[in-house]
Amino acid sequence: MIDIQFSTRQNKIIEIVKEKQPISSEQIASMLKVTRATLRADLSVLTMMGMLDARPKVGYFFTGQSINTIFANQIKDIKVKSFVSTPVVVDEETSIYNAIVTLFLEDVGTIFVTSKGYLVGVVSRKDFLKSVIGNSDTNKVPVGLIMTRMPNIVMAYPEETMYDVAVKIINHQVDSLPVVKKEESEGKIHYKVIGRISKTNITSLFVDLGAKK
Ligand code: ADP
Repeated sequence: MIDIQFSTRQNKIIEIVKEKQPISSEQIASMLKVTRATLRADLSVLTMMGMLDARPKVGYFFTGQSINTIFANQIKDIKVKSFVSTPVVVDEETSIYNAIVTLFLEDVGTIFVTSKGYLVGVVSRKDFLKSVIGNSDTNKVPVGLIMTRMPNIVMAYPEETMYDVAVKIINHQVDSLPVVKKEESEGKIHYKVIGRISKTNITSLFVDLGAKK
C-alpha cells in the first residue's frame, strides 16, 4: 500500500467535495474560510492526481478513486520506449575474453548475443564467472557456448509498459531484458535487439516518480 500524505487542508477539501459535489471553488473557499487564491494550488494538486475532477461551469467532483488506484494507473501508462537504454550486443562467435572486456568497457552486467544480427542468447556476470571457474579457455571458447539461449530468453517490447517489464524481471529473477522488434525472414520469426531495460531503468523511473511534486 502506498501511503501518500495529503495536507490537512487537502483532506478537508476532499471531504467537502465528497459531500457537496458538484461544488465550486468559491463555495469550497468560503466553507474553509480561505481565499480562492489560497485554494488554487491544493485544487490543482488534487485534480492532477486524479482525486478530483473539475468540470467548467459545474464545479468539482470526487472521482472515487483511491490513491493506490491513481498511482497504479499512472505507472501502467509508462511505456518501455520512453525509458529504454542502448543495448550492448556481441556476435555469438565472440570469445568469452572479448565479451568480458566489452562488459567492463560498456559498464553493463548483461550482454545480448546475436547471430546474423538476430537475438540468440544472453550472457551475464554469473555466466562469465562460471566459465572462468570451470577453466574454460576464455580466448578460444565463444560466448555462444556459455550463454542462456533462445527460446528461453525473456524479452520486452517497446509498446509494453514499464510495469509489465518490472513484473517479468521479478518473476524470472533476471537483471535485464532485451527490448526487441519481431521480424520474419525465410519463413521464421527472429528478434532484432533494439534496446535494453535493466533494474537500473526501473530504479530511475522510481526516482522520477518520487521526484514529481
Ligand atoms: P547475474 O549473472 O549478474 O546474476 P542475472 O540474474 O540477470 O545476472 O542472470 C542470471 C542468469 O539468467 C544467467 O544465467 C543469465 O544468462 C540468465 N539471464 C539473464 N537475463 C536473461 C533474460 N532476459 N532471459 C533469460 N535469461 C536471462
